[in-house]
Amino acid sequence: MRPSAPAVPLVTTKFVFVTGGVVSGLGKGITAASLGTILTARGLRVSLLKLDPYINIDPGTMSPYQHGEVFVLDDGAETDLDLGHYERFVDCSLTRASNVTTGKIYSEVIAKERRGDYLGATVQVIPHITNEIKERILRVAETGDAEVVVVEVGGTAGDIESLPFLEAIRQLKNDLGRRNTFYLHLTLVPFVSGSEEYKSKPTQHSVQTLRGIGIQPDAIVCRSRERLGTGLRDKIALFADVEPQAVISLPDAPTIYQVPLVLEASGLGPYLLEHLDLPSGAADLGAWERLVARTLAATDTVRVGIVGKYVELPDAYLSVTEALRHAAVAHDVRCELRWINAETLDPADTEPFRDLHGIVVPGGFGHRGIEGKIAASRFARHTQVPYLGLCLGMQCASIDLAREALGTADCNSTEFSAFTEHPVIDLLPEQRDVTDLGGTMRLGLYPCKLIPGTRAARAYGAELVYERHRHRFEFNNRYRERLAQLGVVFSGTSPDDRLVEIIELQGHPFFVASQFHPEFRSRPQRPHPLVRDFMEACVARAGLAIEPELPGEAVASARP
Ligand code: GLN
Repeated sequence: MRPSAPAVPLVTTKFVFVTGGVVSGLGKGITAASLGTILTARGLRVSLLKLDPYINIDPGTMSPYQHGEVFVLDDGAETDLDLGHYERFVDCSLTRASNVTTGKIYSEVIAKERRGDYLGATVQVIPHITNEIKERILRVAETGDAEVVVVEVGGTAGDIESLPFLEAIRQLKNDLGRRNTFYLHLTLVPFVSGSEEYKSKPTQHSVQTLRGIGIQPDAIVCRSRERLGTGLRDKIALFADVEPQAVISLPDAPTIYQVPLVLEASGLGPYLLEHLDLPSGAADLGAWERLVARTLAATDTVRVGIVGKYVELPDAYLSVTEALRHAAVAHDVRCELRWINAETLDPADTEPFRDLHGIVVPGGFGHRGIEGKIAASRFARHTQVPYLGLCLGMQCASIDLAREALGTADCNSTEFSAFTEHPVIDLLPEQRDVTDLGGTMRLGLYPCKLIPGTRAARAYGAELVYERHRHRFEFNNRYRERLAQLGVVFSGTSPDDRLVEIIELQGHPFFVASQFHPEFRSRPQRPHPLVRDFMEACVARAGLAIEPELPGEAVASARP
């Protein structure tokens, strides 16, 4: 029996599929996000979707070594870090529908099989798995009210894991029509020293692999160190069977936010729109041009230390570093990052903090490196260096403050010390019976009420804000009073006052730490208020003149 294929929607949504070849790590996510930018810059409604070939349901339980940062959405979905790029480049808020993994697809198909939905059919990769994938892709168009959906396929053409995804997007060309689909392939064009030449062969092979799967790319974006000449682009066009103007050179850029400008300058926007039969209005990329110009013009530098566990792996803190960059641009400075390994940090040694203008302790899980992070908070407190604590960074600051307030080292989070005398950070009573690690956290957007007059309230310019969470443990209210005696202000709480969301220290130039992750809502043109004000304090610490902030910018977090 022929299983019913997903109903092809009557909507006129167009789909742009982004695949990658030759090697991974070419910036496929940034390319997909940049396509989103050049389409939104024409007033089109754009949504984005990442198809991840791994079998995990989501990256929530994956180690940052495997996967880099876990990006959290408003709805609490734990997603691939590319969704962070999408949100930053398109200035949108995505939903869990925008990240599909092999694990999600298979668990849905197996659940349907168990329910008997397939009416006795043998359940197979084609068509059952591919139909489920197509359904998920089409769903983004339906729920998001998008005119164009950019779909990024994770992995590299030729990987076993990504084959069902590639087969599904191949089928969509016939399902939806050639004019409603566009296939863009991103490859590497390496420079071979010795022969002193850029080589197109890996791109040719990668396109052959893609065609073997049945996908003829409509455009090829070539990553290389420098700009590729016409000769090489024409050669690639010939071998890959695309028009010469559809071979786009994407050389290394000094800032990722230049990529939309490079793609647009190469004519990709009009080419794409013509293929998709969309009106090809001019793109308004003025804000991006100004952002890039400001980024490149900044010469004064502030040095910010990030005290974390994955210092050799900056992808683990991608949104943090991006949020710092957004804030730095708003103050017309460059932010130089110093990675400080919390695990090897000797709590008595202040040398790693020397000459820093600010210290960030980002989020994290597990006991490794905790004492180093607590030492970072102590150093910042005692030396008046600006401090920004993000989730775990707030918990470590609370432990540091409690140890000082109570005069004992036996203050901790029950995550790291189950039987500590003073559980300053603890599970809520109703959380105590939880055993699964996946999907048991406070995730996604929660309201936070701010106390007027505090540094946090001034930063936001609002009394109620919404921020994204990803944690299990909370500040233990039993310790509020003792910490308050040290000058701690609980400037943000849940509206019922039950959960501490932000702490700040009076009499310090800037000591603010939040239980949520502000970095997930920072945008290039709209730096997050807390990160922006932290950067302002760093600029002051560096002895630089403080630029007035951007006028008239709306605060991302002040709306749900
Ligand atoms: N490990 C801490 C908790 O679960 C903090 C989590 C984080 O920093 N994202 O509460």
